[in-house]
Amino acid sequence: MNEFEIIKHYFTADSGRKDVLMGPGDDCALLQVPPQTWLAVSTDTLVAGVHFFADMDPLALGHKALAVNLSDLAAMGADPRWVSLALTLPAVDEGWIKGFCAGFFELAEYYNVALVGGDMTKGPLSITVTVHGTLPEGKGLRRHGARVGDGIYVTGTLGDAALGLQQQLGHIVVPDEHLDFVRTKFEHPHPRILAGQALRDIASSALDISDGLAGDLAHITAASGVRAQLELEQLPLSEAMKASVPRERGWELALTGGEDYELCFTVPETHRGQLETALAHCGVKFTRVGRILAGEPGVELLAEGKPYRLQAQSWDHFRSA
Ligand code: ADP
Ligand code: MG
Repeated sequence: MNEFEIIKHYFTADSGRKDVLMGPGDDCALLQVPPQTWLAVSTDTLVAGVHFFADMDPLALGHKALAVNLSDLAAMGADPRWVSLALTLPAVDEGWIKGFCAGFFELAEYYNVALVGGDMTKGPLSITVTVHGTLPEGKGLRRHGARVGDGIYVTGTLGDAALGLQQQLGHIVVPDEHLDFVRTKFEHPHPRILAGQALRDIASSALDISDGLAGDLAHITAASGVRAQLELEQLPLSEAMKASVPRERGWELALTGGEDYELCFTVPETHRGQLETALAHCGVKFTRVGRILAGEPGVELLAEGKPYRLQAQSWDHFRSA
């Protein structure tokens, strides 16, 4: 098959979305944006050998390429609608493309996101995805809204993707009964779309955790002009984590490990009741891990009430204490 046949055959599935007036096949996609809505747009690139192993299962890669982008929409509280896909492939390998599409479209269908266009080029394997979502005019969970006294929360458990990576690299032994769990967290992250939407009128700030809680939370403190205090014994660690490493190493993976794609968000005390109801409604587990303080932007760590210092050197530069 040539490039056009491949696009037609693999990348032109009809999503059934009525707001797609023109999908793949013309010079541009044409999309109907409803009145009184804002567009939320985000792009991420995954490069072989940098962001994933070149021999990664194409199905998992198709899933992940879309998932990491949807995670950005989740962090904004947006409703996903459309996506475009730029693929750079070293060669046309239909088996690979088939697998990639299976992973990509399974997630796209789950969230009713339409693939509306893209690009195909020859070169070192890399994948660029741009997602488009919408928000009611004036809404959107930004990083600058955290205020002194707000609680700091995270969804799910933290550090599991990093644990999965360390396991694959042979650095950490994960007990057999937890292997599927950590592999899924590493290769099949699930974007917190429903939680993000539910937090739209509740959280004062939010972002998705792609580089570890400590570094990512530092972005919120910088944007909001506040300080954050984390209580490490509150960090949600999975059973797999607890069974694989000592507690301090678990904290470290939770704070500095990448690719969890959970949400970190702040909530004023007055919205605490609403928060319980809203996240229980969408079945997402969440944990309060600290609070927002006045002071120099940065993240303070407390373990049993005492200042705690991380082993990881690379983390220090996020910390202004
Ligand atoms: P152009 O030369 O005008 O950029 P292309 O030949 O790159 O057009 O693409 C032709 C059509 O196919 C466009 O509508 C484009 O959006 C779509 N397309 C190309 N690659 C992909 C892809 N990987 N997924 C979905 N649509 C694609
Ligand atoms: Mg093109």
